[in-house]
Amino acid sequence: MKQILCIVCPNGCRIQAEKKDSAWLFSGNTCARGTDFALSEMTCPTRTLTSTVRTSFNKTLPVRTAAPIPKANIMDVMKLLANVVITQPLLIGDTVIPNALGLGVDIIASSNILAEEDENG
Ligand code: SF4
Repeated sequence: MKQILCIVCPNGCRIQAEKKDSAWLFSGNTCARGTDFALSEMTCPTRTLTSTVRTSFNKTLPVRTAAPIPKANIMDVMKLLANVVITQPLLIGDTVIPNALGLGVDIIASSNILAEEDENG
């Protein structure tokens, strides 16, 4: 039996997960989204990654994955982001890294902090 804290909504239900034969059984969730989340946690847990990257504008740019990625890949994506330096004034939603590490998910800007910068810094 494993305990999972559902993070899909603020209710924070505590879900019990138990494997019977080859199927997962869940209890403690109060809606179907909790079942989906718990199954994902037990088979291929994912998270939306938020971070920052350096820029040539003397500011850091907040970024995030456009969709959740497997938790197992988060450290590798963080290492990828550590080597990025943005040299153009990207806007919120602009792609920073397409298809990061071949995961099928882009890294996108999550702020307009560079909106008023010109390309000369
Ligand atoms: S099980 Fe449903 S109600 Fe409970 S935290 Fe998850 S999404 Fe929210």
